[in-house]
Amino acid sequence: MKAIQAIRGMKDIPPAETPVWRELEDAARAVLSGYGYRELRPPVVERTELFRRSVGEATDIVEKEMYTFDDRSGESLSLRPECTASCVRAAVEHGWLRGRGQRLWHIGPMFRYERPQKGRYRQFHQLDVEALGFPGPDVDAELILIGERLWRRLRLGALRLELNSLGSRAIQDAFRARLVEYLTRHASSLDEDSRRRLDTNPLRILDSKNPDMQDLLGAAPRIVDCLDDESREHFEGLQAMLEASGVAFSVNPRLVRGLDYYTRTVFEWVTDELGAQGAVCGGGRYDGLVADIGGPPTPATGFAVGLERVVALMQARQGAASDERPHAYLLAVGEEAQRTAHSLAEQLRDALPRVRLVVDAGPGNFKRKMKNADRSEAPLALILGEDEARENRITLKEMHGDGGQQSVERSQMVEILRGHIGSDD
Ligand code: ATP
Ligand code: MG
Repeated sequence: MKAIQAIRGMKDIPPAETPVWRELEDAARAVLSGYGYRELRPPVVERTELFRRSVGEATDIVEKEMYTFDDRSGESLSLRPECTASCVRAAVEHGWLRGRGQRLWHIGPMFRYERPQKGRYRQFHQLDVEALGFPGPDVDAELILIGERLWRRLRLGALRLELNSLGSRAIQDAFRARLVEYLTRHASSLDEDSRRRLDTNPLRILDSKNPDMQDLLGAAPRIVDCLDDESREHFEGLQAMLEASGVAFSVNPRLVRGLDYYTRTVFEWVTDELGAQGAVCGGGRYDGLVADIGGPPTPATGFAVGLERVVALMQARQGAASDERPHAYLLAVGEEAQRTAHSLAEQLRDALPRVRLVVDAGPGNFKRKMKNADRSEAPLALILGEDEARENRITLKEMHGDGGQQSVERSQMVEILRGHIGSDD
């Protein structure tokens, strides 16, 4: 029978890779709690309407990439393509925005029906960080500092910060008209994708990576030149705070994001180390979104980190991830020994709560069990044979080096094992 495979673009994270993921998740948790952010765990399925209203009808995400289906009662639901909308929905639904700000984060899978390639998957994971209820550039700066601290903690080098301001919604509407006018004049130089976007989402054209269009886009009107006074002050305020904190950045006037809800600040952390999929983190301010989905008018700002891309950077950096190999492998030969193996292992785990101890399972003679021990990569085998079981002893065998072995009293076992765990413990 043909074996069933995973869905294209959705991959298993195998045990060899989960330590690096956990290191990333633990670092994120630690950094975020240091800034007073609290974890939210929303469901992965929401009403389709939520994403239509937030991400936007004319975006690639909603138009082409969402996993949308009718449930058994005929209601249209979607797997979440991003998480800001869910965080805002939850905060509004539970009344968390009444008279105070909320600092929230979430880590989990997102789903987009994109063309799978390196760094781009159909199920991928994001760390999502949202600050709801704060109008000023100070909290935009805080989000950027969180990102920077996370990269430092993970020992990632060379991430560049790009900033832009998209102004208020009124400015975006006026700018859109100017941009469409300019691009229509040069319609013959636009590629097919951009021509289609001219009607649906013209700002996104600025983001095109097509080398043939770079001259045209370089000379296009710039939204930073059209900002309203308040947005300009906000943007200058943010830049001044980043300079005061020693955060390097560059203003990229063509930075726009793939979701409709952004106003004013937008930013991206990018790397040259990942080829075409160089955006590791994207975010910005979305002052209109809370009201758009039925909440009280509330300023808000946030960002999302693409975890697959950060993991790729972590795998390329110097220094190995944490070691998850067992400290010891316990094998018992003979009926009596096998009966007592688990109780001995439990005593060791009681005495050494951080020990990683694997107990051999399954049939086989001594030779087979030693092979299992070898495969486990544990540096130490604990051998419980007929004689040892009778005499309350155990044999320790070094699996590497000279392969030396010694027989000790079981009561000495804890101290010896503690020595092997060493700095790990
Ligand atoms: P891109 O320009 O790479 O498509 P995006 O602008 O669509 O990214 P956002 O929606 O802002 O991305 O999501 C934030 C981050 O999530 C991105 O910077 C990226 O690191 C990651 N990301 C987005 N889509 C995918 C995907 N399909 N697979 C893996 N990571 C992704
Ligand atoms: Mg995208």
